[in-house]
Amino acid sequence: MINSARIPIFRDAGFELTDAETTSKAFAAETKNEHEPELYIYSRYRNPTVVAAEKEIMRLEGSKWALLTQSGMSAIDVAFSIFQVGNKVKPWLFFSEIYGGTISYAENVLRKRRGLDIHSFVPVNDKYDLRAFELLIKKLRPEIVYIEAISNPMLIVPDAEAVIKIAKKYGAKIIVDNTFATPYLWKPLISGADIVIHSATKYFSGHGNLTAGVLCGNNNAIMKAAIEYRKFAGHMISADDAYRLHTQIQTFNLRFRQQCFNASMVAEILERSEKVSKVWYPGLKGHSTHKEALKLFGDKGFGGMVTFDFAGSNRVEKKNRRDRFIKAVSDSIKLIPTLGDPHTILMPVEAVWGAKYPEPGMIRLSAGFEDTDELLSTIITALKSIK
Ligand code: PLP
Repeated sequence: MINSARIPIFRDAGFELTDAETTSKAFAAETKNEHEPELYIYSRYRNPTVVAAEKEIMRLEGSKWALLTQSGMSAIDVAFSIFQVGNKVKPWLFFSEIYGGTISYAENVLRKRRGLDIHSFVPVNDKYDLRAFELLIKKLRPEIVYIEAISNPMLIVPDAEAVIKIAKKYGAKIIVDNTFATPYLWKPLISGADIVIHSATKYFSGHGNLTAGVLCGNNNAIMKAAIEYRKFAGHMISADDAYRLHTQIQTFNLRFRQQCFNASMVAEILERSEKVSKVWYPGLKGHSTHKEALKLFGDKGFGGMVTFDFAGSNRVEKKNRRDRFIKAVSDSIKLIPTLGDPHTILMPVEAVWGAKYPEPGMIRLSAGFEDTDELLSTIITALKSIK
């Protein structure tokens, strides 16, 4: 044994099993305990470097198990597929303000290809009405309810603990995508969720240099089904990506705290500018779900995302302001279509979401963990420079 304090990168495709007896033992134990296996078999099944990274996520989410995959979408594929047994399933209910990729998956894979009965629950005035939710769930009796802790790009926070309670009352399983809130703000399993998923590409990795996904839970039967499906579908993350994730996740709390702080400062500055007509940030008193965010997150913070809209008397003026702002900040705030990067990055909302959010002045900003004064000075200078 070498006295290294780091985890090694095990690049083995297959692991040495020596003889037939050991091989039988390894295969017999395969789904028994994902996180303490005595013998490894093949890296698509499990890998020691991956297991080490999974343990870090278990610690953060407070879960009994965590399973890493090569992207957030593959974690979502695992989470959904294990509850589908032929077509004999009850309806599935999705909150409508969730990641566009998940909506496309539900529409194109679950509904069109697999024939599932998919329903959507829509907020009114950027807020989920829980009485309407209870009426709908009473009528549908869904198998699954799927929510996000903070939506994208309007950053709507549901009263998630109440949602989970209602879903449980009517026998539904709850899957929470906790990518935007992260366990720093809320741990859904403690509130009774059945599965928590993350695009670990975002805040867990935190450096914009890998794609990864993870699903976490406490239920053993769900874990076994997920291990099996991940293996069949080949959704396992590579040892190299797991190693980098394992290293980068050590600084997660520190990074995310600073991202929440930077986002709150940016939101305040934008709110004060007469060039900006509206700011969406759950930490602002005027946000449609500020109360829900306070209830769910307490005083820990409100996430690292801010959405805002440029003022203007017409579409052309708004669009011009948006474009001038993007150009003015471009030396330090880049237009990169992801979130949770080390530096603040942005995306023009209309260009990405199209008809769903057609306001031409809208920008979604992902706050980085860079020096706050530097970031604010870039934004203040840019706001001053645009007419
Ligand atoms: N969930 C949320 C909330 C996301 O924002 C994303 C991607 O942006 C995903 C899931 C999918 O993750 P990935 O891109 O890692 O597959």
